[in-house]
Amino acid sequence: MHVVIVGGGIGGLTLAHGLLRQGISVEVYERDRFAGSRFEGYRIDIEEMGLRALHACLPPKGWAEILEVSYADDRMTFLTAQMKTLLTVDGSLLWPRNNPTGGHYGVDRPVLRRVLQSGLERVLHFDAEFVRYERGLDGRVTALFADGRRATGDILVGADGTTSRVGAQYLPGGELVDLGVTCVGVKLPLNNETRAWLPESLSNGVAIVNSDNTVFSFNAVFDPTTKGPGIESYILHAFSWDVEAEDGADPAGKDDAEVIAMVADRIASWHPIFRRILGESTLPITFQLRASKPRPPWKPSPVVLLGDALHAMPPTAGRGGNTALRDAHLLARELWAVATDRKNLVDAIGTYEVDVRSYSAETIAESVNNIRAYASYSPIRNCLNRAFLRTCSLIKPLRERVFAGPRGSGAMRPWENDQLPGTDYSKAA
Ligand SMILES: Cc1cc2nc3c(=O)[nH]c(=O)nc-3n(C[C@H](O)[C@H](O)[C@H](O)COP(=O)(O)OP(=O)(O)OC[C@H]3O[C@@H](n4cnc5c(N)ncnc54)[C@H](O)[C@@H]3O)c2cc1C
Repeated sequence: MHVVIVGGGIGGLTLAHGLLRQGISVEVYERDRFAGSRFEGYRIDIEEMGLRALHACLPPKGWAEILEVSYADDRMTFLTAQMKTLLTVDGSLLWPRNNPTGGHYGVDRPVLRRVLQSGLERVLHFDAEFVRYERGLDGRVTALFADGRRATGDILVGADGTTSRVGAQYLPGGELVDLGVTCVGVKLPLNNETRAWLPESLSNGVAIVNSDNTVFSFNAVFDPTTKGPGIESYILHAFSWDVEAEDGADPAGKDDAEVIAMVADRIASWHPIFRRILGESTLPITFQLRASKPRPPWKPSPVVLLGDALHAMPPTAGRGGNTALRDAHLLARELWAVATDRKNLVDAIGTYEVDVRSYSAETIAESVNNIRAYASYSPIRNCLNRAFLRTCSLIKPLRERVFAGPRGSGAMRPWENDQLPGTDYSKAA
């Protein structure tokens, strides 16, 4: 059996590792001109579902490297815009590390992608822009690329992200819904100089700032113990707001200085530390929060979608990438059953799709609810929210009940307790 994957992002690359570990032939076709040819963004959060997928799919060297270059989050703090702490939740409650794949890590995206590419050199093809696919009479699928290349497999996996061409051809109508909230991310170097003036609550773990309007901010430290070429410590500060409620303030198409000025305007009443952060940060990135419209169930076939190609979601639960990793983990299991004649292709892909539809719908709903909780500002709701967080801070059993993780769609599915069936982990260790 041969699998063709379109898209060498975090989902596609992890799937490729999982298949190779189980002896299944695979090739990945990626549009990027070469490794590291485009700006990939900042820190990404990886939680238990993603960690389990990486542990199962990556060779031991890759898994060890992921942990080495990651930053283990130790707390989550909720703050007001005036820098008053409402609640600090310990990482051991939120993200227990009671097994090797527990915890919650921040990983720098370019570093993560570099680690995921390592070991795939023979099967990963860059500068391969997928255009469309054809189904053969023998049931096989051929992917066609912009430069005339063709690649035929028994299965074609579309792991080509939010603007998936595989998805557009296979399941048209799965467009993205604009959630009306915009986000600007900036990066502040974390070094002795900035540590000297940064408050403790912003220089460890993750912090969420809830203000008196629709603007909210997510702050996340990236400070791995292992530094190396291209690995530097920083804090990601993301400022988001409801565009309509904020007089149509939309950073799209504006230059860096205009974007920074727009954020500065929105946070003018916040504690001065936030304006200093903004002033000393580099490289604003802007994006609209969007989510995939759910598709009605479809009949399984040798064309399969994975990750954002199937279920894009806003980053407000930090789970889009984790869900892509979870998909890769599950699909690698199911394709092994096909490769070893334990299941027919339609049953295996059907099992994958039923589970993915269920957990991704749950995760999208959580991400969208989180936006509503922060960006749909109402003074009453804000007051209640703060009172609730303060109460959690005072009453330990309530705090434990509300925050003990992994929660919601992050809870493990039964199959996630297993390793990949086709891998001999004792040999690989
Ligand atoms: C600002 C921001 C912060 C986020 N933070 C988090 C977080 O903390 N935790 C989390 O879990 N998720 C987070 N996410 C979501 C996460 O980034 C995505 O869900 C994740 O990258 C999806 O992985 P993927 O492999 O499906 O797609 P991608 O990572 O987008 O990879 C798709 C790949 O396909 C390639 N491609 C596209 N079109 C073609 C084509 N025609 N031919 C060939 N190749 C093609 C692309 O170049 C790309 O490499 C965040 C998203 C954003 C925007």
